Amino acid sequence: MKSSALLPLNQPDFIGWILDVLHLGLIILDDEGRVLAMNRWFGQRVAIDVGAACDRLLTDVFPELRGGRLEQAIGAAVKTRCASLLSQALNPSPFPLYPPASDAGEGRERIRQAIQVLPKVSADGTTLVVIQIDDVSAAVRRETLLRRQAGQLHQLAYLDGLTGIANRRRFGEAMAQEQQRAKRSRQPLSLILFDIDQFKEFNDSNGHQEGDRCLIRVAEAAQCAVKRPADLLARYGGEEFAIILPETGHDGALVVAEAVRKRVEDMVVTYGGDHLARKVTISLGVSCWYPDGGQPMATLFALADRALYRSKSGGRNRTSVLLASETD
Ligand code: GH3
Ligand code: MG
Ligand code: MG
Repeated sequence: MKSSALLPLNQPDFIGWILDVLHLGLIILDDEGRVLAMNRWFGQRVAIDVGAACDRLLTDVFPELRGGRLEQAIGAAVKTRCASLLSQALNPSPFPLYPPASDAGEGRERIRQAIQVLPKVSADGTTLVVIQIDDVSAAVRRETLLRRQAGQLHQLAYLDGLTGIANRRRFGEAMAQEQQRAKRSRQPLSLILFDIDQFKEFNDSNGHQEGDRCLIRVAEAAQCAVKRPADLLARYGGEEFAIILPETGHDGALVVAEAVRKRVEDMVVTYGGDHLARKVTISLGVSCWYPDGGQPMATLFALADRALYRSKSGGRNRTSVLLASETD
């Protein structure tokens, strides 16, 4: 095409034809907000008689627009001749537009709209307002799907596949976060580590699948005893678990640890083979960081680990608490 002068732009029919072949909605208003024209795309998606809308105030045709962001934008376009773009997130579907009948398979959800309000000064000096409406439903659907997938990936990255509780990565990140928070807020932070007693024998006598089921049940039992939303139960190794207890001193942590121990014991999961009467139990180690204790935060895990070792060597199915002062 050599020159736009070849196009009969001075012919109203031709302009009307262009408006009607566009794949977007157009509404043209005069400077009082009266409808001068609506294009075919818009007419095919709205349940009003477009012909009857002409010369009526847009807000009479669509009363739900009154007092809304679009009405403000139209007012601003007339007064200040400023164009505006309505945020899709804040104004998802201002017009009652629905997919045309041929797209009805997709359901009757309102079309998601991106709206631009464009002032245009006409030859006689009056301001016309062009409202451009783009259907962004597909983009919004895609974004929703991507968000959901991102959420699922996040879950996969941070949840233990067997038990559904937090995994080692989540535990590591939560520990770093809670340690920072404890230092800032000058609140104690407790850590419980626990490990299933002689789980190798359980696997040997009951089989690995029963072992997996046992791990799931231990996680469930522990989760029941961990009540506060800020507390975090995680599986940080094969049969090793951890509980982070923000704003909790060692007394409180000991109560939680004992509650977990009792719940596991009360599950009465027994060993098979020669050890039929033996119940599955856990050993626990508790440590606590206090803001004025002078203990480096980094020793919290090592102390809990040593406390857990104490429980093992002391006969298992018990809880030991180790504070920094006891290690000197
Ligand atoms: P202790 O009382 O000293 O903790 O003895 P233990 O037998 O539990 O300790 P050990 O570290 O010797 O054995 C841990 C066992 O946990 C061995 C391993 O087969 C089992 N285990 C670790 N991860 C899994 C798992 O995902 N599923 C199953 N079924 N078993 C696991
Ligand atoms: Mg172990
Ligand atoms: Mg063990």
